Amino acid sequence: MTSHNNLTIKKAREGLLKKDFSAVELLNAYLEQIERKNSELNAFITVCKSEALEQAKHADKLLSEGQDLPLLGIPIALKDIYSTKGIQTTAGSNVLKGYIPPFDATVVARLKEAGAVIIGKTNLDAWAHGSSGENSDFGPTKNPWNTDFVPGGSSSGSAVSVSAQMAIAATGTDTGGSIRLPASFTNTVGLKPTYGRVSRYGIVAMASSLDSIGHFTKNVEDSALFLNVTAGNDPLDGTTPTVEVPDYTKKLDKDIKGIRIGIPKEYFIAGMDPKVRENIEKAIKFYEENGCKIEQISLPHTEYAIATYYIIQPAEVSSNLARYDGIRYGNKRKTFGEEAKRRIMLGTFTLSVGYYDAYYKKALKVRTLLIKDFEEAFKKVDAIIAPVSPTLPWKIGEKANDPLSMYLSDVFTVTANITGHPGLSIPTGFVDGFPVGMQIIGPHFKEELLFNLGHRYEQEHKWFERNPYET
Ligand code: GLN
Repeated sequence: MTSHNNLTIKKAREGLLKKDFSAVELLNAYLEQIERKNSELNAFITVCKSEALEQAKHADKLLSEGQDLPLLGIPIALKDIYSTKGIQTTAGSNVLKGYIPPFDATVVARLKEAGAVIIGKTNLDAWAHGSSGENSDFGPTKNPWNTDFVPGGSSSGSAVSVSAQMAIAATGTDTGGSIRLPASFTNTVGLKPTYGRVSRYGIVAMASSLDSIGHFTKNVEDSALFLNVTAGNDPLDGTTPTVEVPDYTKKLDKDIKGIRIGIPKEYFIAGMDPKVRENIEKAIKFYEENGCKIEQISLPHTEYAIATYYIIQPAEVSSNLARYDGIRYGNKRKTFGEEAKRRIMLGTFTLSVGYYDAYYKKALKVRTLLIKDFEEAFKKVDAIIAPVSPTLPWKIGEKANDPLSMYLSDVFTVTANITGHPGLSIPTGFVDGFPVGMQIIGPHFKEELLFNLGHRYEQEHKWFERNPYET
């Protein structure tokens, strides 16, 4: 591993612009790390070596001509659920094995326009169903901080690619926590933007009213830089409004004095690992000491969030997965794994005549109540801080045969998907050698505030400077 592997987007850009190194040299440092670590960690399904080299050479040409683009020459990994023109896209499932999309997802097109070098496609729970990475048909991804443990899912490969220095940043999707959870388990920064802030076009749909398109970076500033490229209206996705896209890096350093932060009592529950709780409470102290107003708040319908999520989400999954009929994509429906089948059955059941009113319609009503909880809370506070996971990472295999206990690991993350609010997961240190993270949740389209709060904390703590290979 070279010093290039430690770089943030910002630092790598500076190095490229000053000609300290070339885009090809930068790329090679990451390709070599993939070569060294991927057989152990299983973070990548596909490494795009030759395409990436072409893109890096092109970046060097543009750099030599004095051109500058926001991600010029930056090696970025894509969760293998983003359609990539000419490159296999599997969604982690054998059903799509061998499928080569004829087009790029909007986010991929935007990253390429911004000069990014696409280094590879990362492993995930099949169809993004899971919290651990173990549901992948391509084998589980391992946590680089301890390879006997899960890295969190479903965007497990993307989180690990950044954490283990195999990419500078990576894309993910978060339908119920799949960016925030693996970010907190791997010491990376994960952003789940507001629903509709980033286009879903060309990303294999899990649950369309919950899917949020975000990314992993080493630090908060990079997360803001990345969102500058991906956010905004897309005519190909009708759920992306024309809300203005600010320069998300502008307010990173703003004084946080006087910002009102709510701590929801329902997120500090019995059964939570006391050491994780202590870690998050310590992070909250930082805000108190820096002039924020900390207020205890209540989000009273939180206890219904998991039940609501596990009705709405499988209902939408059963509809979205209906299109993989074995005719268009080559592989038969029997190649669906256990978890996808479980969700198709659950969803079909809750949408069926006689059960629709009792389950699906009722879940939609509770969804409205959960949205109201947040509307009420945001009348009193500007942002909310909560843990991401009630526990530390668990051992690979520990929950694999117990879907219910796996579903419960999403207890703190699913609500922001049900309500569409943005959530930023940032590292808050280590417990028993494992990374821990907190999430900052804000009102719709207020990502700037989350970056400001996250950046100020990170400036004092700099957990992101630690990586699994130097302790
Ligand atoms: N763990 C959750 C689930 O399995 C969330 C997945 C996701 O966000 N893609 O549904």
